[in-house]
Amino acid sequence: MDLINGNDIAAAIIAELKQEVAALPGRKPCIALVRVGEDPASVSYVRKKEKTAAEIGVTSRILLPPISITQDELCQLIDELNADPTVDGILVQSPLPKHIDDLAIFRRVAPEKDVDGFHTLNLGKVAQEDETGFVSCTPAGIMELLARSQVDLKGRHVVVLGRSLIVGKPVALLALQKKAGANGTVTICHSATTNLSAITRLADVLIAAIGRPEFVTADMVKPGAVVIDVGINRVPDATKKTGYRLTGDVAFASVAPLCSLITPVPGGVGPMTVAMLMKNTVKAHRLSRR
Ligand code: NDP
Repeated sequence: MDLINGNDIAAAIIAELKQEVAALPGRKPCIALVRVGEDPASVSYVRKKEKTAAEIGVTSRILLPPISITQDELCQLIDELNADPTVDGILVQSPLPKHIDDLAIFRRVAPEKDVDGFHTLNLGKVAQEDETGFVSCTPAGIMELLARSQVDLKGRHVVVLGRSLIVGKPVALLALQKKAGANGTVTICHSATTNLSAITRLADVLIAAIGRPEFVTADMVKPGAVVIDVGINRVPDATKKTGYRLTGDVAFASVAPLCSLITPVPGGVGPMTVAMLMKNTVKAHRLSRR
């Protein structure tokens, strides 16, 4: 079994972007990071995005509206960022408070600044294999991890556990694309799937994105499979300073010995999400200059 080291692969992408940004004449790419309220996970995600942007030479503008912000006020804030020619990309950190319609907010972001890739138009471009759009960061990161680990999906059975708009559906569409590295035969499973383990056992490549700690156990995995664990779950753990430990959707200790390749949690898909966000921001800047 070999580990796919997301930290190393993300660091390589960040180094490439740093070089690209250093060579850009004039105004550097700029990302607006909008964080509503003080959700601790969101605070840490936005901090990480800000830090990575600084490392690359991407300017970040942090907007911290209070949790009491209304839908209309948040739309107005996004409209202002959409209209600002010095902002290339806009990221609205999830989760949003319950009183906010998050899909409406994701659709409010101008498609050409939608570096998170959540806008209907950008998701549609993934389905149409139109590369002028933005692919959402986690699915793009998974494809990049596979490509840089020399995993070609052509002719292989890819099973995706989870059908969310943010991970499951777009990664299934990407694996299915008729292009080099993809061309997988894709099955998507969800909470209404019956005989789940019989399906996952057929996977040459298993992508787990369901948000349930250590859900995928050794009996669900075909020996020699490539396993990509997208899950980031906080499990209470009194021995940790934070009071919790991070675990994926895969029972790593028992599954890893079976696999040809597997991503750890943390240090697998997670770092790739931030790297791909920066890649999208640099792309948005490049496209806006045309
Ligand atoms: P969602 O909760 O939006 O979707 C979960 C999906 O899993 C749903 O499609 C759901 O099915 C399915 N599911 C839930 N329980 C089961 C079950 N028992 N059997 C089969 N399918 C099941 O989650 P996300 O896609 O947003 O995130 C998934 C995980 O990935 C989370 O742990 C999240 O923290 C992590 N994540 C990690 C990122 C990273 O950067 N590494 C980025 C984004 C997410 P149904 O549709 O039927 O309800």
